[in-house]
Parts: sequence; structure tokens; C-alpha cells
Amino acid sequence: MTLINDFMSLIYPRHCEACVNGLFKHETYICNHCKLTLPKSNYHKNGQNELNQTFAGRVPLNYGLCFYLFEKSGKVQKLLHAIKYEDQKELAQFIGELYAQELAKEGTLAEVDVIVPIPLHKKKLKLRGYNQSEWFAKGLAKALEKPLDIDSFERAHETSTQTKKKKYQRWENVEGIFTIKDHNALINKHILLVDDVITTGATIEAAWMALKNVEGIKLSVASIAFAARKL
Ligand SMILES: [Zn+2]
Repeated sequence: MTLINDFMSLIYPRHCEACVNGLFKHETYICNHCKLTLPKSNYHKNGQNELNQTFAGRVPLNYGLCFYLFEKSGKVQKLLHAIKYEDQKELAQFIGELYAQELAKEGTLAEVDVIVPIPLHKKKLKLRGYNQSEWFAKGLAKALEKPLDIDSFERAHETSTQTKKKKYQRWENVEGIFTIKDHNALINKHILLVDDVITTGATIEAAWMALKNVEGIKLSVASIAFAARKL
């Protein structure tokens, strides 16, 4: 019996990645209870939201979207941790598909041309082995039936020490972090830029510093979670 259980656990994760309860056979990654109760932002139904306010005057967004609202020590944090540090890239793709199904119901993002994940610096990519934002983007792209572009945009500098700096110092540093590799591929495109989690918005702002130089570009943003700061 243990042999069969061990074998099955290789195929199906045995626990919900959000609440750690056992999964039923028909459930994958996240149990139905968590699917229903995780704190969704529903920002696609409300343009006047905190994510859009975070970028007001900094980055012109067509859509500012996130699937969940981040709560410290909550289930969403657990999901993000699994995606980033526990090699659960397929979980990121699964969440991307879940989210895209909800967005598609409302016709949100129908006008997007291409989905671009925030790139990792190549040293960090080598270390982690995968880009978690790319796997989330992959799920979105699949369910929204949009192309994924991981070649036109790159991270030129590492920014790992930036989280230790204060907010205003971070904002001074954003230029030059990202660079465009294939300018022509992005001309006149509505890009959905995808990140795992948005907090201050500094990463998206840094990306915009590079992207804004492309003619006719339009930008939307989607993340797995948004950690709203009390302003
Ligand atoms: Zn659960």
C-alpha cells in the first residue's frame, strides 16, 4: 500500500499547496475549498483599485490586474513561496490558467497582443533553474490563447539587494535594469507584463523605463498577488 501511495504522490501532489490538507483525487495543486476562499482581488471588475493607484502618475496602464491579495502569513504567501522556492513551477502555470479562465469570462485582456514575463537576470535564472513569472505567464498565455514572448526583453542588472533599500532609493535606481533585445517585435504591441508579486511597483516601473521607448506600445500588468501597502 505504501508503495502505491508513494507512486501516486509522485504523480499527484498529495496536499493542497495553500492549506496543506489532503487533496481529493479530482483536485490538483489547490483544493476546491481554497479555490473558493482564497482572497481574490477581482480588480478586472473594478478599474478604481489599489494596484492602479500604486502606478498612477508612474506607469500608464491599460489594465492593472492581480489574481489574489497578499496577506502576510496567509495562504497566498504560502503559494508564492512554493512557486518561488520549492520548485513548484507547474503550480504557477496552474494558477495562470485558473486566473485566465476568470478573465476570459469577462472578456478582459482580449485586446492584448503578447504576454511578456518579467525576466530574471541570467545568473539568478541559472541558480533557480526557472523563472516563476514565466510559468505563470505560460498558464495565462495558454488559457487566453495569446503568444508568450520571452526573447524580446531582458534583465541587464541584478537587483537582489534592492529590497533592503528604502522606497525612495529604489525608485532612483530603476533606470537601466531592463533592456530591449528585439525592439521590432514589440512595436505597436499591447503587452501584458507579468510578475509573480507586486509590492511597491518598482520592478514594473523599471520595466516601463525600457519599454516606453518602443513606438506605439501599450502596457497592461498582471501578477499572481498584490501586497497593498497602506498609503
Ligand atoms: Zn486548500
